[in-house]
Amino acid sequence: MKALIFGASYALTRISLTLTPNLKIAMGFVKWVNLLTIFHFFAATPIFSYSSSFTSKFLDLAKEPEVFDWMVDIRRKIHENPELGYEEFETSKLIRSELTKLGIPYKYPVAVTGVIGFIGTGSSPFVALRADIDALPIQELVEWEHRSKVPGKMHACGHDAHVAMLLGAAKILKAHEKDIPGTVVLVFQPAEEGGGGAKKIIDDGVLQNVSAIFGLHVDPTRPIGEVASRSGPLFSGCGVFEAIISGKGGHAAIPQYSIDPIVAASNVIIALQHLISRETDPLDSQVLTVGKFRGGDAFNVIPDSVTIGGTFRAFSRESMMHLKQRIEQVIIGQASVHRCNATVNFLDEEIPYVPPTSNNDDLHQFFQSVAVNLFGVNNVKSSSLIMVSEDFASYQEAMPGYIFLLGMKNISAERLAVPHNPHFKLNEDTLPYGTAIHASLASNYLLKLHQDLPLLHEKYNDEL
Ligand SMILES: [Zn+2]
Ligand SMILES: [Zn+2]
Repeated sequence: MKALIFGASYALTRISLTLTPNLKIAMGFVKWVNLLTIFHFFAATPIFSYSSSFTSKFLDLAKEPEVFDWMVDIRRKIHENPELGYEEFETSKLIRSELTKLGIPYKYPVAVTGVIGFIGTGSSPFVALRADIDALPIQELVEWEHRSKVPGKMHACGHDAHVAMLLGAAKILKAHEKDIPGTVVLVFQPAEEGGGGAKKIIDDGVLQNVSAIFGLHVDPTRPIGEVASRSGPLFSGCGVFEAIISGKGGHAAIPQYSIDPIVAASNVIIALQHLISRETDPLDSQVLTVGKFRGGDAFNVIPDSVTIGGTFRAFSRESMMHLKQRIEQVIIGQASVHRCNATVNFLDEEIPYVPPTSNNDDLHQFFQSVAVNLFGVNNVKSSSLIMVSEDFASYQEAMPGYIFLLGMKNISAERLAVPHNPHFKLNEDTLPYGTAIHASLASNYLLKLHQDLPLLHEKYNDEL
């Protein structure tokens, strides 16, 4: 019965979508009003609520061996063959081969190794789900059957699981394709770990007409089945800098004939600390760390120059921009106090700047209702701010976006290592939870847009 109502209403909307604006011109005003009235009647039926019955089964479906075992197998294959940013050729091939088997069309290559898949009508509205696919330059120290087979590379951030979960969601959504009133766009993104892959995907223009994008990250500190996020900032932005402080080298015993860049650089570093401790609102969390100091090779020689480098983090674009500007001023100014010259480089090409993530408030409300419906109110938590960066922020600069954490801790088992640790272990039991929430968010978001469609559909373009 529900399916029948849904089908009728959906078919009606497709007509209005595909024939507009010609239909509007051809029809008299009265007919148009009648059409909207009929539409509203159907749209008001409960089938369009977030508790829509077909999505509440997604978790059970994702736990079935046909989906779960398949995801575990994919995740282990990717784990065994980790590839760094923009080198994910085998990972990308595996994703494309699974999409082909599922009958899901895709675009490739996007941002070198990225893959963009499509499920649904092929026309608007569009909602995107994102998985990052790259590994880290870390030697795996976990002894297990499917450990990394590539020396010095490891999936230590769980991106192998992110891929498996998005493919799992694709499999489930494909099976319900006829019920999807729009198009789910699957974003398999390269180079999250410092390579600016998200920005490259945006720059490629493939997500231009996407209404919203969702992403998740596994979290070993939260129990399995729990999700957490917040409205507004969640992860910090991240920038890096490198400065060369140049003086004049000479004999260490006659410093009056030299201009000592070591003393200048030391003062620069001390002065940089004051940007956080003296210039920043203590309630606006920020970090500035100098992690690199290179200069001089001998006990008795003053070197010509010193190179320093570091990172800065903050939770708003304004704070990031302010820090960046002040870092440059302080380095150049302090160096000149000591008669040195300084050049500052923010390394935008090599290590692209990552903006702070900022979750859209409407999407936060939407996420909470979907997640509570799927996992129960006690498993949907509010996260505190986290001082790590995520290039999902680049999507959020281009469109409404929402990222959340997915728990994977088994309370009765050992404590899991944090991401980017060579002992990082992924609890594969979390896969169905990520799959189910991905699939539910995408399908319910399109249903929500479908519900609002009479008011909004003119905003959307039919082409992606
Ligand atoms: Zn990472
Ligand atoms: Zn990550």
